Amino acid sequence: MAANKRALVTGAGGFIGHHLVKRLKAEGCWVRGVDIKAPEYETSAADEFELLDLRKYDNCLLATRGGVGQVYNLAADMGGIGYITASHADISRNNILINAQMLEASRLNGVSRFLFSSSACVYAQYKQRLPEVTPLREEDAYPADPEAGYGWEKLFTEQLCHYYWQDYRFETRIVRFHNVYGPLGTYEGGKEKAPAAISRKVALAEDGGNIDIWGDGEQTRSFMYVDDCVEGLLRLILSGYREPLNLGTDRLISINALVDLISEIAGKRLSKCHDLSKPQGVRGRNSDNSRLRQTLSWEPSVSLEEGLDVTYRWIENELRQAGRLSSILTARSAD
Ligand code: NAD
Repeated sequence: MAANKRALVTGAGGFIGHHLVKRLKAEGCWVRGVDIKAPEYETSAADEFELLDLRKYDNCLLATRGGVGQVYNLAADMGGIGYITASHADISRNNILINAQMLEASRLNGVSRFLFSSSACVYAQYKQRLPEVTPLREEDAYPADPEAGYGWEKLFTEQLCHYYWQDYRFETRIVRFHNVYGPLGTYEGGKEKAPAAISRKVALAEDGGNIDIWGDGEQTRSFMYVDDCVEGLLRLILSGYREPLNLGTDRLISINALVDLISEIAGKRLSKCHDLSKPQGVRGRNSDNSRLRQTLSWEPSVSLEEGLDVTYRWIENELRQAGRLSSILTARSAD
């Protein structure tokens, strides 16, 4: 860790933020977590956890007070493809407010490093029209044609980080996540992502039954387990690299194949029902990890099979505890 071991994690009530707080604590840091909600599934490991709405500038000043050295700015209004395609105005406004004001408050409060969580949604959509997509290099974000709303906002905040370096010599790091998954993440309600949504659907389906899939399922993505994500964040903030950097795996898989993998983990045979009326996002998206390897001398290593196994079992267990699995299934799992 850097000399100043006081860290602020915004979005600490969310999926990646919660895991990051635990890891920073394990590294011996003092951690303040901030969010508009507490973590849903277990108590935060943070030394201080404050409920603050970071769309308000005064709250950003409060969050960054007291000699915080590192800021991991993960707070964002975001969700799966259904959510981000349905609320362009709200998502853009909320995230612009959070990011612009967190940057300024961090600078004024003397923060030494600020990490901004960007997204693969910044990549130009015209480069993602085929399932067998060429992996995206960092420069493929331009000429710009990002995801409406969410992607435009992320791309602009990347620029804002760059301007803060140019004008103030304020140290920023920019990470572009590619589909992070793992336990302790939202798995229903509209904000969940594909691995969690599919795990929930598979867990709730009877063996031999059906499962609904958004789109024709031939759309492709790559997925990174949350422990790898957190490791990458720690490495990036310590590095001297100020340009946007991919953080993901480069194993491309179709949504249909992802469903097969999760069904296999669950030990179920399911028929896929494709709902073509639902949004499916870009046709294909994969991470080119050349610069990641070069910059951090590292890349994610948890296999999809390992990571999905842990994730599926966690979601299945949550549903079981909530009494939502069928009695046959519950009896079988308890054997
Ligand atoms: P998440 O939704 O679980 O966490 C985000 C947290 O931000 C939530 O707990 C939410 O309550 C909080 N938040 C929202 N508005 C806030 C506000 N006004 N003030 C304070 N807190 C607020 O999402 P996540 O998956 O943990 O993502 C973390 C970051 O990584 C986000 O910036 C997201 O855009 C980015 N990202 C994630 C993925 C992924 O696959 N999970 C992919 C690309 C980018």
